[in-house]
Amino acid sequence: MDTFEYISASHRVVFGTGTLQQLPSMLKTINATSVLILCTPQQIATAQQVQSIIGHDVGVAIFSDATMHTPTHITDAAVLVAQEKGVDGIVSVGGGSTVGLGKAISIRTGLKHLCIPTTYAGSEMTPILGETENGRKTTRRDIRIIPTSVLYDTDLFKTLPVNLTVYSGINAIAHAVEALYATNRNPIIELLALEGTRSLVEALPVLQTDDQNTEARYKALYGAWLCGMCLGSVDMALHHKLCHTLGGTFNLPHAETHVVLLPHALAYNASTPATAGAMAKLAGVLPGSEGDAVKGMNALYKRLGIDLNLKGLGMAEEGVDEAVDIALANPYKNPRGLEREGIRELIRRAWTGEEAGRDTKRLL
Ligand code: NAD
Repeated sequence: MDTFEYISASHRVVFGTGTLQQLPSMLKTINATSVLILCTPQQIATAQQVQSIIGHDVGVAIFSDATMHTPTHITDAAVLVAQEKGVDGIVSVGGGSTVGLGKAISIRTGLKHLCIPTTYAGSEMTPILGETENGRKTTRRDIRIIPTSVLYDTDLFKTLPVNLTVYSGINAIAHAVEALYATNRNPIIELLALEGTRSLVEALPVLQTDDQNTEARYKALYGAWLCGMCLGSVDMALHHKLCHTLGGTFNLPHAETHVVLLPHALAYNASTPATAGAMAKLAGVLPGSEGDAVKGMNALYKRLGIDLNLKGLGMAEEGVDEAVDIALANPYKNPRGLEREGIRELIRRAWTGEEAGRDTKRLL
């Protein structure tokens, strides 16, 4: 039996369909009487829906400038509005960008933060905040960053475009994959990781052809919640570090970058005996794997028709070597040692969009 540590976050989660109607009572429970609602410019209609449910006397204003990678000048502007309006809470409704803004405001001001996610990115379940200042992204972990409560409503996902549904769903699976081989993994997180992956792997192909399928939307969000808990609970490794490096340095879109890198990072880490157990478990929830997690991931991508690469996302070829240098500059925990040649081959393959595999000497 392994020795392990399990720490659980203590925030409240309400999950279901039509749960947005419970928002007024959820705000009462956390004693928030006057809140600033946060969203992106693309989701003002959803923010207005929130405002009409809680009333303009509680939802006193909408701040609609949430931006990817949480730039600090946007946070400063939002804090100013919160102070001018004298609110005692914030409600973030949106994807990871909006949730990130909510976290950035709450850690600066101590304001309660109720979070209503509308993508599968999982930020609402983590004590992690990434912020950008002068083009540099820094990340910190602090238990006070975890939102006060989280409201999941599957209805809010009806407007999520099909491609983002698939990409964001894979982004969630990436959290589970790395949780399975995390150095500080534990049996609880392993259960969540496998169940979350299973749920998403069942739901995503259905949503791709029938994006209003309520059962699949429910399943996908349920899986994403579990994967978000994995992200918030154990240390992520090579895959997340690469996404962070590439996303920040080359300004690449978040979910798509995860999608491109995941099979390659998985293949890299599958090449060490240290991950044999994790890989066998992962293979067990990936249809078509025949016991090989990399094969199972490739099969999932084929089924979903995923055809993305770093080149197509706008990264120049010279970026491959730059990315390798940055990826190796700050060492971090990973089940397989960080080897320059192998990392370069991983990024090169992701750049061209070749199928992931352990079948070349350079990657091995
Ligand atoms: P996003 O929040 O940037 O959203 C992408 C676009 O989709 C936005 O225009 C948004 O308005 C729109 N959108 C979101 N939900 C929608 C819906 N239901 N219907 C219609 N449009 C919708 O994308 P994301 O991938 O969710 O988040 C990415 C950001 O989150 C990155 O900055 C990343 O670093 C951060 N993140 C942080 C953590 C963490 O734990 N700190 C975890 C995951 C992601």
